[in-house]
Amino acid sequence: MKTRFAPSPTGLMHFGNLRTALFSFLLAKQQGGKFVLRIEDTDLVRSEAQYEVALKEDLYWAGITWQEEAKQSDRLDIYAKCYAELIDKKIAYPCFCSDQQLAIERKLQLSQGKPPRYKGTCRNLTAEQIAEKKTAGLEPALRFNVSKVLADGEWLEFIDLIKGKQKFLSKDLGDFIIQRQTGDVTFMFSNSIDDADMGITHALRGEDHLTNTPRQLLILRALGLEIKAPQYGHFSLINGSDGAKLSKRNGSEAVRDLKQQGYHPLALANYFARLGHTIAKQNFLTMDELAANFSLDNIGTSSSTYDKMHLQHWQKEAILHASNDEIWHMIDVKVKDLVPQDKQAEFVSIAKENILMPSEANALATMFFAEQLDYTEENKGIIKAAGKDFFEHAISFISANQDKTFTFQELADYIKNQTGCKGKQLFLPLRVCLTNQLAGPEMAKFINIMPKEILSLRFNTCLGFN
Ligand code: GLU
Repeated sequence: MKTRFAPSPTGLMHFGNLRTALFSFLLAKQQGGKFVLRIEDTDLVRSEAQYEVALKEDLYWAGITWQEEAKQSDRLDIYAKCYAELIDKKIAYPCFCSDQQLAIERKLQLSQGKPPRYKGTCRNLTAEQIAEKKTAGLEPALRFNVSKVLADGEWLEFIDLIKGKQKFLSKDLGDFIIQRQTGDVTFMFSNSIDDADMGITHALRGEDHLTNTPRQLLILRALGLEIKAPQYGHFSLINGSDGAKLSKRNGSEAVRDLKQQGYHPLALANYFARLGHTIAKQNFLTMDELAANFSLDNIGTSSSTYDKMHLQHWQKEAILHASNDEIWHMIDVKVKDLVPQDKQAEFVSIAKENILMPSEANALATMFFAEQLDYTEENKGIIKAAGKDFFEHAISFISANQDKTFTFQELADYIKNQTGCKGKQLFLPLRVCLTNQLAGPEMAKFINIMPKEILSLRFNTCLGFN
């Protein structure tokens, strides 16, 4: 088993690419096979080195690692040989039709309700006609003559790993371009040759490539390489929440944006491995477990919908499953500075239970350890309503218990006995004074992480408001 991810470095990695890479990676991993990264950079105008770097960084971050790597711009000699072979076999012919001419042809066919197919204008040019056009300075593209490989009326059939049996008629394929006028290699050509040449056994990709497959199989047939063609599997695309194709407008983001927001790579893996692919186990899985639970049979044929809430569910799980060390590493340096050394372990345990994103640890650390809180007017009002007494008693309780640990309940009971405050009157000013929040994690759980000096400071500040 050998699978591959073959991105074109023309942009940042988005969800569709990530899922394609992940499925191919998991399939190879499960079977103890190899996973290849192939950079498809033959479109020289749109490919950029920075995107190649970014793709690799993002894959690596996502936990998707590869055993072999190739780049199409290093393999141009191979494609050149294949062009020569097809020209020699008279399966490829030069086409001088201009873009403008082709666009008019396409429009006409569409207006007649016909699928746009090349009419064959240049298919039977004589050697003299070709020489004449070249002398006139026209640069040809290279077209693949379908009828030389697949007779009229003949079907090209293949079994798609996901969609099952597929068949296409020769006349529906139309002669297609395999080398651009500029000399650039088309995706269709290099992609099929590389899959065969690299021994790829399973090529998984989005269904937008389904109609390329018969053409790619014909290229391989013409080169005597059909025997080495991979089995193709095309899965349905990801839709946005509104049902339309996923785009920025309906939720799509670059993988690195999610990374920057603080998503855990295993949150992405758990989410995307289940998008369009059913995993019976509902619990959080490691990459090895995801691979063990991967099956081509469980890839659905209907389109899937991106749902951020589900991604967040797996983020919560990923945070809960991460080691304390890992969480500590995810946290901002500024936050770390606030946390006293002897409180680090406890802080991470509390944070793990209470945050979705590492950035939220910031608010938590401020709440526990910052010397001053920036109380809102509303909160100041609650503090003032509690009155001077309330905070004086709180301060006495802290001084009396300087060397002891105490529970939140003991602190609350003391104030209650001294002031007669109870229920909301008791608990709200306490919470607001200590945290500057109207709601939040259970006070009883974190009172002991707050240094006594900070507790005194907070009560003194609140006393000052009265
Ligand atoms: N370079 C192609 C793309 O990014 C690869 C398609 C494939 O996986 O075969 O769409």
